[in-house]
Amino acid sequence: MPGSPLLADLIEALRCLPGVGGKSAQRMAFHLLERERTRGLKLAGVLREAMERIGNCTRCRNFSEEPVCALCANASRDRQVLCVVESPTDLAAIEQATGYRGQYFVLLGRLSPLDGLGPEELGLAQLSARLGEGEIEEMIIATNPTVEGEATAHYLAQLARAGGVKPTRLAHGVPLGGELEYVDRGTLAHAFGSRQALE
Ligand SMILES: [Zn+2]
Repeated sequence: MPGSPLLADLIEALRCLPGVGGKSAQRMAFHLLERERTRGLKLAGVLREAMERIGNCTRCRNFSEEPVCALCANASRDRQVLCVVESPTDLAAIEQATGYRGQYFVLLGRLSPLDGLGPEELGLAQLSARLGEGEIEEMIIATNPTVEGEATAHYLAQLARAGGVKPTRLAHGVPLGGELEYVDRGTLAHAFGSRQALE
């Protein structure tokens, strides 16, 4: 960046955001400098504070500023059901889309030996300990329906059974509003295999 090494640093730093390449980073940097200096400073402050203060809940591993997050601390939530997800984004999606009122456990990844993600990184000892507390009766396995997500689900189901907890898995199905002829074969085969009796 001619003229300003600091501007070049800013553009380079913005590229850490997902989906932001050189061009977008440059546009963001110019936009902030040309029109949004006050809000840019606010962004810098909040960003620093969030990076320094947001950690992970000691019970569910979701993002939290407190040792135990608001969701885990909420006494009105069902303590017999635990939903295991790969990421905080998945937790947020389930909270927004469903009426689920149970507990969560966030793996912060999925079993992927090639990426160095094993049971230890996913906090599975911590999960086992939680199952061992004896309160949980059902573990809803909500890992993604990818190859690694399925392998993780398989492992989690064994962990649940070993802890005397009933494992359940999110259903794979035909998307709402979809048409069978356009659904991929794997999804259709799964949906067909896990059909349910009509009430
Ligand atoms: Zn929590």
